[in-house]
Amino acid sequence: MDEPMTAKGNRRVVAVDGPAGAGKGAVCRAAAARFGLAYLETGALYRAVGLLSLRAGIGDPDALAAAAGEMPFAFRPVQDGEYAAFLGDEEVTLALRAEEVGQAASRVAALPGVRRALLGFQRRYGAGRDAILDGRDVGSVVWPDADLKIFLTASLEARAKRRALELQARGETVILHDLIARMQERDQRDAERDHAPMCAAPGAILVDTSSLTLAQSRERVNNLIATLFA
Ligand code: C5P
Repeated sequence: MDEPMTAKGNRRVVAVDGPAGAGKGAVCRAAAARFGLAYLETGALYRAVGLLSLRAGIGDPDALAAAAGEMPFAFRPVQDGEYAAFLGDEEVTLALRAEEVGQAASRVAALPGVRRALLGFQRRYGAGRDAILDGRDVGSVVWPDADLKIFLTASLEARAKRRALELQARGETVILHDLIARMQERDQRDAERDHAPMCAAPGAILVDTSSLTLAQSRERVNNLIATLFA
């Protein structure tokens, strides 16, 4: 059985879901800094399982669920609202961002045992604090009683161009049409899987960032969150 949701009490939880490259990470980091929220990028957990599966060559669903349940994952704030991800003593922040790790994450994320194993961590995170979490199923499964649910999206082309700039800034070579095809494949797998598919949760506010700058996206989301703290 799924772990019960931690009592939310009077703390405020913001759930931000949406496809890869919509700007979830950037807007959530800014909102966390602005409103003093604990931030959890839930995709990092799935990426960590994806990384373990690539490194150890694990493909069996039960072995992957066991690895997800036992992995010594930690997500720690560093300076300027940035966060660092650790597997035990190893910092894996950059390793988790690699494109192939995103693909592996999306494959392991379709396995119900892996999702179950990661649920408790997501629900405990920020216990007793105001928090913002981003992912694919935060508003629908992880925190269905979140105070504010946002579905942040953008056209495939806009998202791919942003992702390309991010990868190029890290020195990776990018072929845009390949990147578009891979993102489309990942979106489709995330949206069409049987367990906790990516979706706009009931009551979620849709924010389309296709024609917004990052600053405008941050402002739009901060204005929504500000209503919780008025
Ligand atoms: O958000 P990010 O692109 O880092 O997520 C990597 C992958 O992890 C997604 O493509 C998705 O398959 C999976 N994921 C998920 N549920 C979440 C967060 C991420 O299935 N809440």
